[in-house]
Amino acid sequence: MTDCGEDAKLEATKQASKEFKESENVAEKYSAMTATKHSDVNMNVGELSAAFTAVPTHKSVKKIQFANQEDKQEFSKFPTKTGRRSLSRSISQSSTDSYSSAASYTDSSDDETSPREKSQVNSKGSSDFCVKNIKQAEFGRREIEIAEQDMSALISLRKRAQGEKPLAGAKVAGCTHITAQTAVLIETLVALGAQCRWTACNIYSTQNEVAAALAESGVSVFAWKGESEDDFWWCIDRCVNMDGWQANMILDDGGDLTHWVYKKYPSVFKKVRGIVEESVTGVHRLYQLSKAGKLCVPAMNVNDSVTKQKFDNLYCCRESILDGLKRTTDVMFGGKQVVVCGYGEVGKGCCSALKALGAIVCVTEIDPICALQACMDGFRVVKLNEVVRQMDMVITCTGNKNVVTREHLDRMKNGCIVCNMGHSNTEIDVASLRTPELTWERVRSQVDHVIWPDGKRVILLAEGRLLNLSCSTVPSFVLSITATTQALALIELYNAPEGRYKQDVYLLPKKMDEYVASLHLPNFDAHLTELSDEQAKYMGLNKNGPFKPNYYRY
Ligand code: NAD
Repeated sequence: MTDCGEDAKLEATKQASKEFKESENVAEKYSAMTATKHSDVNMNVGELSAAFTAVPTHKSVKKIQFANQEDKQEFSKFPTKTGRRSLSRSISQSSTDSYSSAASYTDSSDDETSPREKSQVNSKGSSDFCVKNIKQAEFGRREIEIAEQDMSALISLRKRAQGEKPLAGAKVAGCTHITAQTAVLIETLVALGAQCRWTACNIYSTQNEVAAALAESGVSVFAWKGESEDDFWWCIDRCVNMDGWQANMILDDGGDLTHWVYKKYPSVFKKVRGIVEESVTGVHRLYQLSKAGKLCVPAMNVNDSVTKQKFDNLYCCRESILDGLKRTTDVMFGGKQVVVCGYGEVGKGCCSALKALGAIVCVTEIDPICALQACMDGFRVVKLNEVVRQMDMVITCTGNKNVVTREHLDRMKNGCIVCNMGHSNTEIDVASLRTPELTWERVRSQVDHVIWPDGKRVILLAEGRLLNLSCSTVPSFVLSITATTQALALIELYNAPEGRYKQDVYLLPKKMDEYVASLHLPNFDAHLTELSDEQAKYMGLNKNGPFKPNYYRY
């Protein structure tokens, strides 16, 4: 899994440094967007118009049937999110690589009836959805409205496209976390003219009330918190397998929906104009398909957009590390000794937040460049072995495996908190703690005390899975940046003239990244300086961007 992620990153970097022609064309097309002041961007999509129309009708419920045993085995080979999640419960193999609010405030776990067994209808008479409880819609609507307050870029996209529907005729099949923030994205796509059918990319992260609100508003959504693996594939199938409705765009997070369509309904790809993928894993799968010559439509790699990587990874973790630790342990940070393993984007975010609250932070790194950055930022760079005995908290952020081993865990002091912020739960060797001499005590949801024979306790959070996804929420504002990038990638792929994009994986052009950023600047009343003609000439830049070459690292 980790290697997969790294490969994907490498591919993405190669891709980024290729000044491919298509990018230039896209940039030109979108220059209208960035042409005006960056604080007041004008979306020029006037030529595209039509309206969002139908809510698909009911489709009868059925159980997933694989065409044959081979298909089923083929599926099992893929590290799906449900697969990884179910593994994580048993052998703590892996986790998830995309990040979103995991909280559901109306978890109606008392109601044991499977949503698949229920007959539900929204107030317009449609039953083309499957959620936990449609009656929670009103509460979900409030959750969505709260998220909207911090996702003003998407709201402004809606306003700019009023009457000009750049996604008119688009039929988007989506598979993402179903949270208030994604609901804002889905409703933006609808406002831009798309018809949407949606399913969850993770069996635990659905906010039931939000799914209900979407279903009530007419989006065909198939998701609930705590799906079984069979439910998961059933929901994906219901999302794409609908008489009289065929997706022509895919928005995926993890590649499961893409994979399902590819295996079960390959003919759908004749109509699909493009795939937009958010996660490391999904992007890796797309590159694999592309390498094997099997990718039959263009795809956008959103994961490696600057606006995703530099904001989601750094700023999201900077805020949610504290939230996750507080909610689970009520720990006070001032004066605590903390070691953060890995000083990449996620590690930098965690270190800066912990330092700001008075923790004494040190860092482990394998890469001399990142190690030097840590030194220059005022952190001591150490080997975990050297410090593990004194630490109050050990936090992994490497994306690697076995960074914290049983030997380290044996040497930790009583009360040491251990958690992971990297994408998979391979970073802490949790499996090594499942031995007879150690006692596990569940003290709170997502909090285990692992007790050594001498009474020493180590506090393990989320069983080594990603802390912020498992135990906290993620700021809507950061998700707005990623969601806006996804919306623009869909608009671009849907409207691109034939031939602009081949059957390959593309990064969003720099100009679009800049556009996404500019849409978020008004939140801060930030005033951009404009280049004078003389300065633009001197720097060799277009006054309207792009302002940096693709290889610029920010
Ligand atoms: P990155 O590649 O920028 O940073 C990882 C760092 O870990 C690198 O500098 C690398 O040199 C270092 N490293 C690798 N092995 C190590 C080891 N054994 N000991 C010490 N350091 C080691 O990646 P990133 O963007 O910081 O992401 C890190 C992980 O977090 C990834 O798995 C990513 O998918 C995940 N992620 C999590 C969130 C979240 O919300 N929790 C958000 C984005 C990304």
